[in-house]
Amino acid sequence: MSTCVFCEISAGRIPCTKLYENEHVLAFLDIGPISDGHTLVVPKAHYDRLHQCPPDVLAELGRVVGFLAEPVARAVQADGYNVLNNNGSAAGQVVEHVHVHIIPRKTGDGVFDRWPAYKYPPGKAEAIAEKIKKNLAR
Ligand code: AMP
Repeated sequence: MSTCVFCEISAGRIPCTKLYENEHVLAFLDIGPISDGHTLVVPKAHYDRLHQCPPDVLAELGRVVGFLAEPVARAVQADGYNVLNNNGSAAGQVVEHVHVHIIPRKTGDGVFDRWPAYKYPPGKAEAIAEKIKKNLAR
């Protein structure tokens, strides 16, 4: 059976640079930062993806992300920060244990320089919205 690195960190069997912890959530510095102060916030219990987290775990995860974002950014004199959560390999998820990145940003730092935005052709936004709303009813 393969082990999950964030489960191991949560259980204290793999070291981390810990920032905050409570009964449900742990926050520590990312070992491969894309900016100084790059932080990960994880539920201690294992869930592969965000939508699999029970609502109370999600609420606590969100609360801790909000609680930490400004102190993390201020510690490295950042001008802003990104909050990012990758789900599935197509979306760049490498560690299959839910985690939220807090990424401090400085003006002109070049991180996430390009956001490949485009425009919907007529009717497409409405058609997609309709499908999403049908899925909500399930
Ligand atoms: P993601 O691509 O969203 O799955 O991001 C996984 C993140 O986990 C990467 O930014 C890694 O640098 C980070 N990471 C992997 N192993 C560790 C570890 N042992 N301690 C801290 N961060 C880690």
